[in-house]
Amino acid sequence: MTTALLTHADGLLHVTPTGMPEQVARLAYIQSALEDLDVLRVDPPLANDASIALCHPQSYIDFVRSKMPTDGFAGLDRETDAETFLSPTSEGAIWRAAGGAVKAVDMVLDDEVTNAFVAMRPPGHHAEQKLPMGFCIFGNVAIAAKHALEVHGLSRVAVVDFDVHHGNGTQALLQDDPRALVVTSQQMPLWPGTGEASDRGPHGTVLNIPLAPGTDGAHAIAEYERLVLPALIKHQPELILISAGFDAHQDDPLAQLNWSVDTYSTLTDMLTKTAQTLCERRVVSVLEGGYDLDALALCARAHVQSLMKAAQ
Ligand SMILES: [Zn+2]
Repeated sequence: MTTALLTHADGLLHVTPTGMPEQVARLAYIQSALEDLDVLRVDPPLANDASIALCHPQSYIDFVRSKMPTDGFAGLDRETDAETFLSPTSEGAIWRAAGGAVKAVDMVLDDEVTNAFVAMRPPGHHAEQKLPMGFCIFGNVAIAAKHALEVHGLSRVAVVDFDVHHGNGTQALLQDDPRALVVTSQQMPLWPGTGEASDRGPHGTVLNIPLAPGTDGAHAIAEYERLVLPALIKHQPELILISAGFDAHQDDPLAQLNWSVDTYSTLTDMLTKTAQTLCERRVVSVLEGGYDLDALALCARAHVQSLMKAAQ
């Protein structure tokens, strides 16, 4: 079996204003870094609105579509921090980012591939039901999790979010569904400010892991061994989804953790080994953040190489 890579040139057409860290070059660097890897390359399709509606009301989906500008940029944020934008050619990127996550679930659960990485943008883990936020418009990984539960009929899934920011959107979209375990580690304090360890969600199926600024990879891995592995074993997911943000790397400009490329290899190995024990190696990983372009490319490559090793 193999690893699928779902990526598309449309992801390069979601243009953001000059100076925004979430930029076209992020995906270009990742695509270049993965170019020579022996993976199954798959076009991420445009998501059906019905898939997106597993997490967002149709009125919000229509709102996003209605805001597509004919030129320049349209700001989507409803609050003060202006950082989530649409460009005239964003629609294909946004709908393929969600559609790729859904397609990856289909391929893994239909045994076409062992695992998959969805390299698309915009990212998704900050988007709440009706709230675009932090560069994110639709909750791609949460939509994929709901698709696995509702369409494929799984009984339990887990999302593990190692992006340096709290996966507040993923938590908001999934915490009311006790079939979904949501694990999210984040630097604290850091934007968006949520994600305290005491916040376990209404069913106790949310595991927030705050990490102090300066936390290195060894400490983070120890925390994953101490907290995440037992939570996964207790939940017994039939599919593990990863929100793969690479902004905990020591070179990232948006945060102050000190992870290395090797940290991402080790964490991915840990999760794929757990998937081997719990859920027939089924892993779907979805790109989130990562804003130092060189570090992002290296970390994404190491992450996919670890997925490939697990699929052999
Ligand atoms: Zn992030």
